[in-house]
Amino acid sequence: MAELQIEQRIAGLVAIAKEVKVCPKCPLAEGRTNAVPGAGPANAEIMFIGEGPGQNEDEKGLPFVGASGRFLEELLASIGMTRREAFITNVVKCRPPGNRDPQPDEVLTCTQNYLYKQIELVNPKVIATLGRYSMALFLPGAKISAIHGQPKFADGRAYLPMFHPAAVLRNPGLRGEAFADFAKLPGLVAEIKQRGETTSTPIPLTKSNTPDDPPKNSPEQLSLF
Ligand code: URA
Ligand code: SF4
Repeated sequence: MAELQIEQRIAGLVAIAKEVKVCPKCPLAEGRTNAVPGAGPANAEIMFIGEGPGQNEDEKGLPFVGASGRFLEELLASIGMTRREAFITNVVKCRPPGNRDPQPDEVLTCTQNYLYKQIELVNPKVIATLGRYSMALFLPGAKISAIHGQPKFADGRAYLPMFHPAAVLRNPGLRGEAFADFAKLPGLVAEIKQRGETTSTPIPLTKSNTPDDPPKNSPEQLSLF
């Protein structure tokens, strides 16, 4: 597939965001205050995928704006990045009530309708998965403690499984590893660019690979809010 023009990417992402904001497709629609489509440059080289909005995100309609978000910003700063340079989104776009785990059918519906299209439009060099729900989409059956920080090369890009920032905040013993995993991101982006492979859409999600248990506007930027 030919590279999409930036205008096409922005138009596609805006259309998805509009649809997400009023989406009735799964039970999570009922409990939300605001759906959280995600935000970032339409041509971001790195996409972060978390689990789902928490209370702060549900209130503001923006991804990673609470304590996890502040820590994510700290991790990004450690590699000389700000959140404006990355596309940040979640597996499910609406807050599960009481922060319960998203159910397999909710994950399936939301990712097939939105996340996979966002990936296709942004076409990031690296997808950094934050936590096990996001990891399970691309590395089914993997254990995060065993494979965090180890990239998988597929679809012409790199998938890098990382701890969820909230998990690191709960368990400060993981901090060193979390920063070490982040330190791999710039090199991975460079490696993918050097390979110059054509990217493809990731394998569509099936039920079997769900786990069991405010950017600024410029032609290159997409602010969804
Ligand atoms: N945790 C997530 O997984 N996503 C957010 O957007 C915020 C917290
Ligand atoms: Fe729609 Fe996803 Fe929200 Fe479910 S979680 S209502 S599929 S946007």
